[in-house]
Amino acid sequence: MNTPSTLKRVLMGPGPSDVDPRVLEALSRPTIGHLDPAFLDVLNEVRELLQYTFQTRNQMTFAVSGTGSAGMETAVVNLIEPGDSMLVCINGVFGMRMTDVAQRCGADTSTIEIDWGKAFEPVQIADALKKRPAKVVGIVHAETSTGVCQPLEEISKIVHDSGALLLVDAVTSLGGMDINADALKIDACYSGTQKCLSCPPGLAPITFSDNALDVIENRKTKVQSWYLDVSMIRKYWGSERLYHHTAPINMNYALLEALRLMKEEGLEQRWARHAANHKILKAALAAIGIEYIPDPGFELPMLNAVSIPAGVDDPAVRTQLLNEFGIEIGGGLGAFKGKAWRIGLMGSASTLSNVMLFLSALEKCLADQGVKFQRGASIAAAIDQASVEEKM
Ligand SMILES: *Cc1c(COP(=O)(O)O)cnc(C)c1O
Repeated sequence: MNTPSTLKRVLMGPGPSDVDPRVLEALSRPTIGHLDPAFLDVLNEVRELLQYTFQTRNQMTFAVSGTGSAGMETAVVNLIEPGDSMLVCINGVFGMRMTDVAQRCGADTSTIEIDWGKAFEPVQIADALKKRPAKVVGIVHAETSTGVCQPLEEISKIVHDSGALLLVDAVTSLGGMDINADALKIDACYSGTQKCLSCPPGLAPITFSDNALDVIENRKTKVQSWYLDVSMIRKYWGSERLYHHTAPINMNYALLEALRLMKEEGLEQRWARHAANHKILKAALAAIGIEYIPDPGFELPMLNAVSIPAGVDDPAVRTQLLNEFGIEIGGGLGAFKGKAWRIGLMGSASTLSNVMLFLSALEKCLADQGVKFQRGASIAAAIDQASVEEKM
């Protein structure tokens, strides 16, 4: 029966990613009250494990009720008062979204835009801040629309030297690669549950530095959003346990289980798994002439953005992958519409078996379209690369 409740897919798109059965089981446990001491224990453990995952000691670390975009809005709306200056770095869809959010929050926004598929050079941020200082600088760590990873170390130093706060979108990177909120001195960092945390969509992990909290505490105006006001939410997540809004109880069960899975595997092991499966996929695609969009060294391990080979019917391939093999991959967004495939290897979906399944399915789809390539070449390359990775 093809109803949504019984369909099984292999989720290899830009999110959501495959959810571990333990997380689904947690989601189905009995709902209890949001002030029940047993549920407050759940929140405490969620916070503790989020601190582990963000690699931070920030006390103000919690899960926003809403998807990744709610995390983005929470970060911006709490730090920005109407008229405050914010610099947003745009190299894809999510930098554009952050600009839109900042403008709606009343920020006096400036932007730097570079070609999609490229990462920012630190000097570009430095020049922009010299021209026009900002209170907050927003940047995306893992740009899911282009597959580009943005190095942050030098940029963090430049931003802080200028006196600004650093706001980072880690929706796709958290749990799949190193993003160390404390070492990078990030002031506001948010994520989403359905990418590398492998939980259903619905919560947005977030963390604020003490400097960011100072800024929030010294605001002259109320936060423009009642729902996302951290000064009120902290009274529920903190020791006062004051009702603000009803926490999504079962989603927090699910997130807790997903974070326990992360802790059991270990952060570094998890990053290594993502890196290895990415390298196997990359070697395999190269063998059939499929190239990555980001420059070498800037590819995201969890989101493989590749150019669609000339003459290939993009929608037909993705439809066939879905209908014949149950595999979902993503198409191109914005400037990359019709030009890119986005192959996710996120969280529990980052496995060798998914890589092998995807490659054989893709070869069949390409062959059915009459594309010329050496049959089996991607599989052979994957086998070779897997043996290299296994020795590491
Ligand atoms: C997915 C994503 C978002 C938005 O998250 P939603 O859960 O769709 O609201 C924001 N930023 C990045 C980089 C993303 O990949």
